[in-house]
Amino acid sequence: MKNISILGSTGSIGVSALDVIAANPTHYKVAALSAGKNLRRLKTQIEKFSPQVVSVLDEVLADQLVDMLGDRASEITILWGPEGYREVASCRSADMVISAIVGAAGLVPTMEAISAGKDIALANKETMVMAGSLVVEHARAKGVRILPVDSEHGAIFQCLVGHNARDVKKIILTASGGPFLNLSRQKLEYVTLNDALKHPNWDMGQKITIDSASMMNKGLEVIEARWFFDVGADKIDVVIHPQSIVHSMVEYNDGSVIAELGVPDMKGPIAYALSYPERLHDVIAPLDLCKIGMLEFIPPDVEKFKNLELAYQALRKGGTMPVVLNAANEIAVEAFIEGTIKFIDMPEIIEATMNVHSAIEPQGLADVLKADGWSRVHAKKIVERMKTTQ
Ligand code: MG
Repeated sequence: MKNISILGSTGSIGVSALDVIAANPTHYKVAALSAGKNLRRLKTQIEKFSPQVVSVLDEVLADQLVDMLGDRASEITILWGPEGYREVASCRSADMVISAIVGAAGLVPTMEAISAGKDIALANKETMVMAGSLVVEHARAKGVRILPVDSEHGAIFQCLVGHNARDVKKIILTASGGPFLNLSRQKLEYVTLNDALKHPNWDMGQKITIDSASMMNKGLEVIEARWFFDVGADKIDVVIHPQSIVHSMVEYNDGSVIAELGVPDMKGPIAYALSYPERLHDVIAPLDLCKIGMLEFIPPDVEKFKNLELAYQALRKGGTMPVVLNAANEIAVEAFIEGTIKFIDMPEIIEATMNVHSAIEPQGLADVLKADGWSRVHAKKIVERMKTTQ
């Protein structure tokens, strides 16, 4: 029996992870849950999984949750804020922590889970993007295993099992191409938030769906792959694969390519991260290749989707540049959701912010968070300027 804590239990990954846990009650038990503001969903999860500790965004929400739970509230430790997340991340009875908070906010709790010696199932890619070198070093020092939940990295991880790292020639990340794959550059100027939220294959949260449409998700995944698998930028390729059946591939020095395939369902990579090195039964629907018929592979259009190129630039520059890329993107996505900027403005904001940043090699989390804060302030100024000129 493995005890699991989930950071971000009411988000898309958290919900899928709890589905996997519910389907395998003899293997997994929930130790602690943290959520943001979705109290209704959290209450249902508490009733179903009986965690010992739960945490929400702030004290007001914590009080509301106590009221909603009635008598049951006395059986659970209910916490809030950074302290609460810390408690969920380091909960004594947990063997593994699923890190599924969206965005930069996932970094500090994940580091705390590592400090507490917990194995990590990492869905929060920003942890690796922002602080890859620190995270990898910290996990090594603590003897903690970090398993990828991102479907591409989960696939690569599976393609690498039983092989030597020195035999790897290239890592090939697949990307669906998102809803704007076949749209001209001119038409990209007029796409709306609703258009961007229509992902063809994967059912995901709002932020990551927009990142998928803009290709920033793939850019962040390239940086994530660098740290997960210890390979340089020149050994990581991206190929568009609209069917999302091949989740990623590894090319070996002898020319052989190993791929991992399956229907696009996040329960697959989540389950593998939880069960590794074992495998669970019947996690996702069987793959019927004859029904799918055809698998396509196309090179990415980096002129149309500048974000991918910006991510490679940030990775090559190194140090705090990926932090700045990520934070500026979060501000840009926020502004796009609010309707204050256009879809095609997002890469402009990110590039302009990167252009005036002097990257340093972060010595600790403080340096990372400082660069993150700087980038947000700067990107917001650019958004403001765009608002007044539009
Ligand atoms: Mg992914």
